[in-house]
Amino acid sequence: MKTIEKLRQLDSESILIGHISSVLAWDQETYMPINGINERSDQLAFLEELSHKKITNPEIGQLLDEAGSSSMEPYGAESFSFIDRAYLRILRRKYDQAIKLPASLVSEMAKITSFSQSAWQEARKNDDFKLWSPHLSKMIELSRNYASCIDPDSNTYDVLLDKHEEGSSEAEIKTVFSELKAELVKLLDKILGSNQLDNSRLFGFCPIETQKKLSLLMMEKLDNDSNSSRLDCSAHPFTISLGESDTRITSRYDCNYFPSGLFTTLHETGHCLYELGIDPAPGYKRTSLGNSSSAGIHESQSRFWENVIGRSMAFWLKNYSGIKDILTTILDEVKLEYFYSAINKVEPSFIRVEADEVTYALHIILRFELESSLLNGSLSVKDLPEAWNDGMLKLMGIKPDNDREGCLQDIHWAMGLFGYFPSYALGNLYAAQMWDSMKNQGLNPEEVVAKGDLSVILSWLRANVHKPGAIYKPNELIRKISGKELDPVCFTKYLKEKYSILYNFS
Ligand code: MG
Repeated sequence: MKTIEKLRQLDSESILIGHISSVLAWDQETYMPINGINERSDQLAFLEELSHKKITNPEIGQLLDEAGSSSMEPYGAESFSFIDRAYLRILRRKYDQAIKLPASLVSEMAKITSFSQSAWQEARKNDDFKLWSPHLSKMIELSRNYASCIDPDSNTYDVLLDKHEEGSSEAEIKTVFSELKAELVKLLDKILGSNQLDNSRLFGFCPIETQKKLSLLMMEKLDNDSNSSRLDCSAHPFTISLGESDTRITSRYDCNYFPSGLFTTLHETGHCLYELGIDPAPGYKRTSLGNSSSAGIHESQSRFWENVIGRSMAFWLKNYSGIKDILTTILDEVKLEYFYSAINKVEPSFIRVEADEVTYALHIILRFELESSLLNGSLSVKDLPEAWNDGMLKLMGIKPDNDREGCLQDIHWAMGLFGYFPSYALGNLYAAQMWDSMKNQGLNPEEVVAKGDLSVILSWLRANVHKPGAIYKPNELIRKISGKELDPVCFTKYLKEKYSILYNFS
């Protein structure tokens, strides 16, 4: 067997185990009874350890060496094809990181994470930070251990960030975010100084069953493959791939405000389209190449469909009558123009996942600042709720009354996902750059969407973003697509153009 084929075969074993873990993780968040948690955390820890054993198999190291892939020159010999060289780079990175982690830490992290997630759910339900805070302290400690194993000479945050957004650094994020923050605060000031838009008519009782029907219709409109995906409910909406042609999404419904579930579903469908759009060819299938480029690129796909498309007039021109047929009592008297401005109302609010396009990144900037302080020790866990509330007041002028609407709202830190939040804001920036690229390439995306021909947009994303899987690092991919580096100006320009019309200012 050729070196590269043997590598794919060995890699596929840990990928398969990862898919099995995903089935269990999906079940834990959707259907598992609460008392199943003890057995489930053991199951997940067992699989995590097994997967670690597979990926640290010394044979992988030998084969990578044979292929000419080293830590310094990961792409391997030039005689390999472009795709094989990209694959060698990815596998070298995966192998190099895995062998630095002791199996005991891998297993402990998996176990503690399951408990922490479960404690977070209880804490959030009861609005009791103290139920979760010891778990959070433990997650921080484990994340620091993880980072020092991977690279003891680097800043902890950089190591954790690199896991989700390869090649990025805390310093780069700080620079990008400070430019973004200044622009967003200016824009928000203008908006809040204008006549506020009304969205009161979108509120009203809407049964969950009706909202599910609406979600399924939206998934169909976006051309999502219903034979390769399914929709369920969870406390925190997510998308997870369980393997080839099986991607699950979840949504969360508010009985009195249907847009909440509607936009959550559009968001998760964007993630789902990415997962299902990765090249299914043998070189990708069940290998580390059949993956996303980064968390930020993944998020660009969800934000793209949720906002750039889902909150555009062009999209609703073709789709409004379809949702009116389902939401008869609520939307009966509501005109399209009202609906469009209502779903784009900008207002500081507590919950990140429900935030509008303008304030959304401010939520992320707050989390970035807090997690960076938690990791470097300048903020202690017990002071987190207060720091959160003060931060909200400073950034958006509002202060949550409880931790459910404050530091208990997101699952990420409970899962040990530190350094992950920035990818959400990067997703917005990447999505805006992609939208600009479509325009620059003469695609006329607004016109196409207004005609209801979303397949043109999806085909572009498939070819440029989905299909290549993990071939390109995120900075390479965005440069390839847009001809430039990550640039917050595309996003802020998009916002200014859209919201100066909606709010009637210059
Ligand atoms: Mg997302």
